[in-house]
Amino acid sequence: MTLPSAVDVAVVGAGAAGVGTAAALSRLDLECVVLDREEVGATFRKWPAEMRFITPSFPSNSFGLTDLNAVTPRTSPAYTLERQQPSGEEYADYLEAVVDFHDLSVVTGVDVTGVTPLEETPDEDIEEVGAGHAVDGGTALDASVRDGFVLETSAGSVYARFVVWAGGQFSTPRGDLFDGTDLCVHSSSVRSWADHAAASSTREFLIVGGYESGIDAAVALVDAGCSVTVLDRGLPWARRDPDPSETLAPYTLERLARVEGSDRLDLVGGVDVERVRRTDDGCFEVRTRAVSDGETRTFTVPTQPVLATGFEPTLGPVAEYFPFEDGHVSLTDVDESPTTPGLFLSGPAVTHNGVQFCFIYKFRTRFAVVAKAVGERLGVDLGPLEEYREQGMFLEDLSCCEPDMCGC
Ligand SMILES: Cc1cc2nc3c(=O)[nH]c(=O)nc-3n(C[C@H](O)[C@H](O)[C@H](O)COP(=O)(O)OP(=O)(O)OC[C@H]3O[C@@H](n4cnc5c(N)ncnc54)[C@H](O)[C@@H]3O)c2cc1C
Repeated sequence: MTLPSAVDVAVVGAGAAGVGTAAALSRLDLECVVLDREEVGATFRKWPAEMRFITPSFPSNSFGLTDLNAVTPRTSPAYTLERQQPSGEEYADYLEAVVDFHDLSVVTGVDVTGVTPLEETPDEDIEEVGAGHAVDGGTALDASVRDGFVLETSAGSVYARFVVWAGGQFSTPRGDLFDGTDLCVHSSSVRSWADHAAASSTREFLIVGGYESGIDAAVALVDAGCSVTVLDRGLPWARRDPDPSETLAPYTLERLARVEGSDRLDLVGGVDVERVRRTDDGCFEVRTRAVSDGETRTFTVPTQPVLATGFEPTLGPVAEYFPFEDGHVSLTDVDESPTTPGLFLSGPAVTHNGVQFCFIYKFRTRFAVVAKAVGERLGVDLGPLEEYREQGMFLEDLSCCEPDMCGC
């Protein structure tokens, strides 16, 4: 598909959030395009080969319990893939199937490098972008049009009345955490833990971070015959919390229990990594400080320490339009930028009342909310979105997001 010159809505990112939001928008009578610099589900295709979804899939849609990993009410990864715990590759295949099933317009290989609200665009540029573009039922865009956005992309400019940013997190791993971060390897750059182990002359590894990615890597490396030390500031493997975003998933705890009995896994909690440095004999020295009493301790490993320290939201050219508050992107009740009306956020960076919508089953409940906000402003029939409500995928009442109420 070629890049359209003007649309009602441009969705940036063809991952779970972008495809899911576009599918909700496609129920309404408006023109929408999804742009991705790589391919549909690109991030999932980069997951380590051993990694599986921690949230299970089950084709329970017909009883109003939509498959936890589905991004639309009528699809189910469990049904499409015949998998309960899909791999990244498999899930990307599911997303491609969703694009086909809902006949979504997706243009891949298009890097969005700039998003400018029209009110900030000089008149001469608007005329240039607008030349020959049909907007608002055939009216050529000119300097009198003062809402919407111009997206600069690697394939040219696109005008969109609304933009949904769904750039994910995977391409911006959290870095620069301590001296020597650059000597480490981030878990997101490893495509297979078995290959990573095989490429090393020794079988001794150290992982910084003991949450989902860290334990996932540790289990895969132990399974590959390696010895692994996991360091963490807290004790995530012992923490219990009713919110799955705050505690290890049952699937992870099961796998951890399987390898914990072996003498090849050492979980060290309550330590802050302060510094990593290279020793004269080419090893890596990791110095930690105990959170409780400040005592320092040194771990020396022959292999590059693995960082499983998480991600930042990939906001790219829209970063300036999404202010941060208490470490989270600040959003209106309909996931719109509070400073730039018409620009929405979809995906794991969505946070309300301190609750992160970081799993697919959480952030998908906001696809219809964004679609409704856009549809209302364009004056189209919103009836087709009711199916999202029937299938538990339409969360408008954010009072359920009080942290203390998520225990049920
Ligand atoms: C390692 C890991 C494991 C996870 N496991 C689970 C799990 O088991 N269950 C679960 O529910 N959630 C899980 N998550 C949570 C995560 O939120 C989702 O898996 C999912 O990746 C988020 O979807 P997304 O569409 O927001 O981002 P992505 O899938 O990363 O999609 C973002 C897309 O945007 C594109 N893009 C970015 N910037 C631009 C640009 N400037 N121009 C054009 N395109 C751009 C990228 O190419 C990419 O295709 C996991 C996350 C990680 C990192």
